[in-house]
Parts: sequence; structure tokens; C-alpha cells
Amino acid sequence: MANIDSKYIKGLALELGFDLCGVAHCATLSKNEAHLQSWLSNNYGASLEYMHRNIDKRRDVRLLVEEAKTVIVCAISYKSDISGGYSDSDGCKIASYACNRDYHKSIKKMLQHLLKVLKEKYPSLEGRSFVDTAPIFEKQYAVEAGLGWIGRQSLLITPEYGSYVLLGELVINLTADAYDKPLESIGCGECRRCIDACPTGAIVQPMTIDTTRCISCHTIESQPDSNINLHGWIFGCDECQNCCPYNKKARHHNSPAFDPLFDPRTISHTEWLAMDEERFAYTFGSTPLKRAGLERIKENIKK
Ligand code: SF4
Ligand code: SF4
Repeated sequence: MANIDSKYIKGLALELGFDLCGVAHCATLSKNEAHLQSWLSNNYGASLEYMHRNIDKRRDVRLLVEEAKTVIVCAISYKSDISGGYSDSDGCKIASYACNRDYHKSIKKMLQHLLKVLKEKYPSLEGRSFVDTAPIFEKQYAVEAGLGWIGRQSLLITPEYGSYVLLGELVINLTADAYDKPLESIGCGECRRCIDACPTGAIVQPMTIDTTRCISCHTIESQPDSNINLHGWIFGCDECQNCCPYNKKARHHNSPAFDPLFDPRTISHTEWLAMDEERFAYTFGSTPLKRAGLERIKENIKK
């Protein structure tokens, strides 16, 4: 079977609107599995039920896609004015990715387009696209593909766009003619701003988040917990990102698909609490806020 041209893949991904693309070998990610097992055994993932499942598939992506050889990792920036953080006078804080159209659909569409064009050039190519919903160590694959490194706040940091990037992958059955390598001579260095900035002390060690303390999980994933102070966040939390020097100097997003649909700084507590389902569906129905629902957001505000 012919090798697929990695330069062609990367050029095409950028042409289709991704900001970054790299190519990695499918591999058995035993170190990541060991880290996950230790994280789970410390109960740091207690609020994320799905992290306990499909660990074998996370370790080896070939259990998800038969005969897989290559992972094409694509990233797109979503940094906007809202990513810079909030001032004390701003009422309700919302993570900046959630002010955009739900990225799952936008990125899936772009990946499907990439897959279609690749299949036209390489008819024997088979593959699947993934956006955040499948059990894949996607940040590790992004590292292997040379896109960035995993920061102390446990997110991928890219030199150009910081951590305000969303990832999508194509896992394919063909071998590439060349593979990328992890970046060298760049990383967090001595910095620990994200650890110090986290309002709940949820970054218990570098690259280890205790989700039972994390505001992002508490506003979205887990049941409301009256013992956790949400510090004004009503959906998600960007505190460990907006302090990061790489994010401060990162470029803003390029793609209009990631333009914010609303500005949380202009919506007061009172407006949120008075909102009805019709207005919520109209204004926020295509954003990630839909996942939590209006009632949950109101509960987060009342905390
Ligand atoms: S998202 Fe917020 S609460 Fe969670 S680790 Fe980052 S700063 Fe801490
Ligand atoms: S704030 Fe500092 S330590 Fe945290 S991810 Fe950014 S560079 Fe790394």
C-alpha cells in the first residue's frame, strides 16, 4: 500500500481552515494509561464517569480503528477578546470556548472534508474522524504530532495559539512517508502561574487536575455541590488559561466559525435569572451552554 504524503496532508488541512496539523504514528500509550490509572485511583476523576470506561482503547487507538497506522491531528484556535479574562465588575463568567457555536459540529465537518479529499487521492485510505467524544489520548497525540506540549494545567499548549485551541483527529489505515516529532527546547520552564491562579487549588500537581475541585467540571459535568465556590463562573472556567504567558501573546482565532455569538460581560445576573427557555434556546441553542441547560446555569448563578 502506498505511503501517504504527510506534507500534502498538512497543506490540505491548513487550506481547509485548520491552524495547525501534524502527523503521528499510532502507538501504544502505556505511560498515559499509567497516569490515567493513578489519577483515577486517587479519585481525581470521580466526577467524570466516562473516564473510567474504555481505558484499553485509550491506550491503543487500533482497538477503535482496525488496521490504523497514522493519526492526523488538527488544531484550530478559538481565542477571542473574551479569552482575556474578566474584571471584578463583570457579572457572570463563561469559558470563552462556550461563547462560540458548538465546536464538535464545526470541527467534525472540517475533518470529514479532509477525509473525503484524502480518499479521492488515496482510494485505499480508510479512516474515522474524532472530536473530543471518543476515548483517545488526543493531547498526547498532538504532542507526538509536534503541535505543542502538555502544560502544568494539563492542557495542550501550542507555541502559536497557546492553549486556546480545539483538537480533532483523523485515524487512518495508511502509513505516512514522514512523521512529526515532539517539540524540543520549549515548554513551561519554571512558570507555575496556572497552579497559583486556580481559585480552588484543583491543579494538585503539574498536569494533574482534581476534577472534584475543578469549577469547570462543577458547572457542567457533575451534580451541583454547595461546598464548591464557583467564583462567579457559571459555565466552565478559564482561570488557568487566561493567566498563561503563552495565551497572552497568542494570536486571535482566524476562522469566522469561531467568532463569539454573544458576550457574557453584557448579560447581568438579573437577566440570566429572568430568562425563559425560549430566549435561551434562541440565543444559546447552538452553543455548548445548551448541554448544561438554562436551569443548571441559573443554579450556578444562585450559588
Ligand atoms: S478550570 Fe478553573 S478550577 Fe479547573 S483547574 Fe483550571 S483554574 Fe482551576
Ligand atoms: S501558566 Fe505557566 S505553567 Fe501554566 S501552562 Fe502556562 S506556561 Fe505552563
